[in-house]
Amino acid sequence: MGESGLTVTFHGVRGSTACHDPQTHRYGGNTSCVSIKSANDAPIIFDLGTGLRYINSSQSETELRPEPFVGTCLLTHLHWDHIQGLPFFRSMLCEETVLDIYAPKQEDGRGLREIFLKKICPPIFPISLNEFKATINFHEIGDDDFMIGNTKVMSRFVPHTGPTLGYRITAGNSTVTYLSDHQQPVTGFALTTGARQICQGTDLLIHDSQYTPAEFELKSDWGHSTFEFAMWVAETTSAKRLALFHHDPSRTDDALDVIAQRLAGVAKNRGFEVFAAAEGMSVEVVA
Ligand SMILES: [Zn+2]
Ligand SMILES: [Zn+2]
Repeated sequence: MGESGLTVTFHGVRGSTACHDPQTHRYGGNTSCVSIKSANDAPIIFDLGTGLRYINSSQSETELRPEPFVGTCLLTHLHWDHIQGLPFFRSMLCEETVLDIYAPKQEDGRGLREIFLKKICPPIFPISLNEFKATINFHEIGDDDFMIGNTKVMSRFVPHTGPTLGYRITAGNSTVTYLSDHQQPVTGFALTTGARQICQGTDLLIHDSQYTPAEFELKSDWGHSTFEFAMWVAETTSAKRLALFHHDPSRTDDALDVIAQRLAGVAKNRGFEVFAAAEGMSVEVVA
């Protein structure tokens, strides 16, 4: 990792629900969670899906002695597949853990802590969120520009189902955009101003690519994008690299290989790179 570079690690790349079977194990079955490390700042995590469990948990001894985590989560929205990892994050058991969660303010005015407390409590989970030793701070945001340490963050509301944010972070000259759940227009391709702002010229665009065009016809208002739309977003905003993300739980590894290989050829001709994000993969982003 260079002085101004970012290391992006994919801990969960699946959308909608976790899955595990021989046909999805290579790309991985955990839901949305991506971590960002930079030389000068505490870690930033995009989303708290089931992949979160794999942060700070590589050694078996940490099962017994969890490591504290001090950092930030930029949460896109509150759907299950983006929050379900939180109560299983071992660092939640440490008193020294301080997790700042930024998430979209809700249209009905309900607070984030109130919503999380209703999802992490008996009888749904053995203990309440308030009983974990970790300190969790919630920050309700919308279309905002702010700093986390030395990292610049842009959050913008994007079309999905319910209040949902996309994020752009910049550390030094390196930029990463995270647009995990993004409703493509039902007909034609277009971008909202906010989505365009966070994508424009980014070094790495992590974008929803849940559906094939045939699947999109059946689920055109379920809040997601096709591979083709993700490609168009990358090209039209001059993104340098595109990570296909939020894979459908029914998408097999072999099918994803074929799609990613075909799109890699298309992207090359259009002046950018594309790959399918896989669990455990780390990518260096240097502008
Ligand atoms: Zn999702
Ligand atoms: Zn969603």
